[in-house]
Amino acid sequence: MAEPAVNVKLIKERLAFLKGGRFKAWLEICAHCAYCSDSCFFYLAHDKDPKYMPAYKVKQTLDKLYKKKGEVTWEELEKMADIAYGDCTACRRCSLYCPFGIDVAVMIAAVRGILCGQGLAPKGLQDAAKHHWETGNQMAITEEDFVETCKWMEEESEEEMPGLKIPIEKKGAETLYVLNAREVKFYPQDIAEAAMILYAAGEDWTFPDLGWDMTNLAMFAGNAQVMAHSAKLVYDAAKRLEVKKIITSE
Ligand code: SF4
Ligand code: SF4
Repeated sequence: MAEPAVNVKLIKERLAFLKGGRFKAWLEICAHCAYCSDSCFFYLAHDKDPKYMPAYKVKQTLDKLYKKKGEVTWEELEKMADIAYGDCTACRRCSLYCPFGIDVAVMIAAVRGILCGQGLAPKGLQDAAKHHWETGNQMAITEEDFVETCKWMEEESEEEMPGLKIPIEKKGAETLYVLNAREVKFYPQDIAEAAMILYAAGEDWTFPDLGWDMTNLAMFAGNAQVMAHSAKLVYDAAKRLEVKKIITSE
C-alpha cells in the first residue's frame, strides 16, 4: 500500500510558529553533555541505551524537522512518532536536571503537535480526543447515562449512608467535583465512594452535567484545539455553577 502523503506545508507552518527564541536557543545550546540522561526512566530501563537519552530523542525529532525544513518522508515521521509517543512520556523530569534549563518535554510535546496534525497520534488518543470534542468526555458517555449512573450509585449507597445525595448541576455549591470518564464507564463504585467521603466531610458539592470529565487525552495526543476545549469545559462548568473550588478524582 502506498504511503500517505506528508503535508509539508502544515509542518513548515507549525515549525515557523514554534521557532521563537526559546526553541531556537534550546536546540542551539544543548551541549549533548548527557547530564540529563540518568533522570530518564526509559534510558535507565533500557540498560542506558543511548537512543533513549533525552537529548538524542530531540535530535531525532524536532532538530531533524528543523534541519530538513519540514521536508521529511512519511517513514521519517513514523519513526518520530515511535519516539515522541513511545519513548517519552513528556514527564519533564530531565528538564529539571539540565544545567541550561532546556525543556525536552516541551520540545517532544511540540513534535507530538506536528505528528498529530499528520494523523500520526496513536489511534486510542485520537479517538478519545474526538469523543471529548463531540460529547464532552473521552468515552462518549451520554448525559442521560451519566445522570442514571449517579442515581444508581445514590441508591446503592442508601443502606450504608442514608440520606446521601449525588447532586448534579447545583448552582451555588461550594465545590465542583470532576472525575475521569473511565470511572463512570467502568468503575461507577468510585462515584459512590467519593460521594460518601464528600458527604461525611460535610462538603456542599456538585457534579456539572457537562464538563465533569477532567481528563485531557488530547494533550497527550498533541491536539491543541481539543486540549483547550476539554479544559474549558471544566472551567465553564465552574463559572456557570459559581463554585469556589474544584476537586478532581486523580
Ligand atoms: S538537554 Fe541539557 S543536560 Fe541534556 S544533554 Fe542537552 S545540555 Fe546536557
Ligand atoms: S521528558 Fe521524556 S526524555 Fe525527559 S525524563 Fe521524561 S520520559 Fe525521559
